[in-house]
Formats: sequence, structure tokens, C-alpha cells
Amino acid sequence: MEVLALVGGEVYSPEYLGRKDILVVGEKIVSLSNGIPSELLDYLNARVIEVSGYIVVPGFIDQHVHIAGAGGEGGPLFRTPPVRLSQLVGYGITTVVGLLGTDGITRSPVDVLMRARQLREEGISAWMYTGSYQLPPPTITGSVARDIALIEEVIGVKTSVSDHRSSHPTVEELRKLISEVRVAGILSGKAGVVHVHVGNEKPGLRPLLEAIDGTDIPIEQLAPTHLNRNRDLLAQAVEFGKAGGYVDVTTSVSPELGMRSSVKASEAVKHLVKEGVPVDRITMSSDGNGSLPVFDERGNLVKLDIARPQTLYREFVDLVLLERVSLEDAVRVVSTNVADHLRLRNKGRVAPGRDADLVVLEKGSLRVVYVVARGRVFVEEGRLIRRGAFEEV
Ligand SMILES: [Zn+2]
Repeated sequence: MEVLALVGGEVYSPEYLGRKDILVVGEKIVSLSNGIPSELLDYLNARVIEVSGYIVVPGFIDQHVHIAGAGGEGGPLFRTPPVRLSQLVGYGITTVVGLLGTDGITRSPVDVLMRARQLREEGISAWMYTGSYQLPPPTITGSVARDIALIEEVIGVKTSVSDHRSSHPTVEELRKLISEVRVAGILSGKAGVVHVHVGNEKPGLRPLLEAIDGTDIPIEQLAPTHLNRNRDLLAQAVEFGKAGGYVDVTTSVSPELGMRSSVKASEAVKHLVKEGVPVDRITMSSDGNGSLPVFDERGNLVKLDIARPQTLYREFVDLVLLERVSLEDAVRVVSTNVADHLRLRNKGRVAPGRDADLVVLEKGSLRVVYVVARGRVFVEEGRLIRRGAFEEV
């Protein structure tokens, strides 16, 4: 087993722990200490990486990536390709949750499952949601509950509300789906979340709140996303977050990309905090490799772009450098909170026993210097040194 020591870095776990030496054996962090004796490092034949003057944070977790591709709005030409490993790990993302989007007709959760398995073999961590925008959802085994209960990689379902591409589910249909996923989560010891694409239509989060109203289902069972796509939805998100719900904002949704009514993710996070949403209820995800269709007022497609996973890193940096959110809180938003919400027990913290997913950043600029995923070095001195299958080195 390979032994790695990252010595002298300032660790944020997300809490600031000061200068610590991190000892990694295989895929795990085994200790955090104020100094590893050199005899021990020699004995273990450890590879020592000097990270004095740098910051060490837990690897980023992106819970919304179209790992097997998505899109297709506008025809086959607009189908987006599968995500490449370098697009993730090159920007500090060491864990992804894959999913389908609008197209659950010509695409299947089976594709997502196999890409998740491939990403695991390529060296990072990957899970997935079954389903797509549509109801009834496409599945792997024939039922959403069986997918979650029987397939290790599946930790919830994806669906969509308040969008012209959704199935416009009734409150009853949503309640049934949420209940099914909750039971499957309980049986399998998983979070069993309902990850919900929320579109631009006026009702926004209302169908979700109506679906759990009068039930004992906790609001954390829901994971609504894209909540920064317009100001009205962001206002609803404030109430949702104050009620204890997790609020996910999308880093590839931005006015710069032609989505005029949207709010840049880092700005949205700052706004949510200012309005009283507890910071431990806020998460960011990229929507990486999703298509970014721009429709006119009549619903006609006028333009299409592709969402990039690296926007998660960019908004993390802007959160700290432009919005002046503390580094601890920024780390919570891109890592710790996501791990807690999705019950990814070995993720989201720099601590003994956790997976060795580490991002080393330059102080000040927050430039990525090293990325370690499951104990292996992927980025070294700012250079990507390991790529995915069939990616050119
Ligand atoms: Zn998406």
C-alpha cells in the first residue's frame, strides 16, 4: 500500500486546524499530527510532499454532473459528451454524483451507472441518482426503490418540477415518489434524496412543499437545485433554507452566460447567508456537461452551450475572494455540507478515517497546487499528471 505524507500545510477540515502533517495510507487519512517522526516516514517508505505555506481542504463534491452526457434539446447535434476525468479532478472535484437530465427517453440510468463505475476505476469517487426529468422515471431495475436499495452507487432519484420540460407531476405523484425514495433510503442506509431540477415556471418550489405538507417526511429528503436561476426562486429558497431545507445553487447558471434573470452562484450564496439561511444548509453544484439551452419568450430554442464542472471551483474562489465569505464556510458549501446531506460518511472532512481526498491551494490566489483523490496524486505542482481512460496525456 502506498504511503503519502503532506507536511506543513494549514488544514481546514472545514474548521481551521492550524498547521498539520497528514499521513495517508492507501485511500485513507490515518493521522493528523503536529509532526511525523522522520524515522516513521522512512520505515513506511512514505512519499513526502512539502506543502508549507499552502492551504489543505477536503476534496470538492459535485452533486450534479451529467457524467454520461445529457442535452439533445434542439436535436441529436446537441447531445453533450460524457464528462472527462480531467475536467473534474483538475479543478479539485474528487467526488461526483451523476444523473440524467431532460432526456430520459434515449438515455438511460444504466449509462450513468457505468460511467460512475468507470470514474471509480479512474480513481475518484462517484455515485448517482436514478430517474430523469420524467415521471414515471426511467430506472435500472424497474423501480426507483429497488435501484436505491439494491445498487450501491444509487443514492437517490432525480426529478423535475416547475419546468416546461418536466412531466408537471401532480402533488400526489410527487408525494408518492418522495415516500418511495425515503423508504428505500431507510432500507439501504442511504440518504435517499429526491434531487429536483427546479425550472423557471412560477410555482417554483411550491409543488415540493405541498408534496411533503402534512407528512412526517423531513424537508432534508429534498434536494432542489438551480435555485439561483431567477430572483423569485432565490427568494423562495431563502424560506426553504430557513425551514431547514438544503438549498443548492448552480455554478454554471450565470448572467454572463446569457441567463439574464439568474444570480451568479457565489452572489446567491452570500445573499442566502445574509437573509438568514444557515450556512450548513447551502450547497453548490456545477451541472457539468449539462446543456445550457437558451429559449425565447415563446419557448423556442435560440442558443445552446455546455455547462462546465470547473465553474464549481471558480465560484468557490469568488465566494472567498469577491464575496468575502470565510474559507471555512466556502469549504462547507462545496464539500462538507454536501457530504452531510448525501450521507457520504467518508467524505467532506480532513480527518483520520476519512477518505484521502485533498485539495492543496495557494494562499491568497487559491490556485490549485495539488489534488489527491482516494490517496493518489492527480495534480502535482499545478500540473495534471493522471488522466482518465482514453484521455490524451
Ligand atoms: Zn442538470
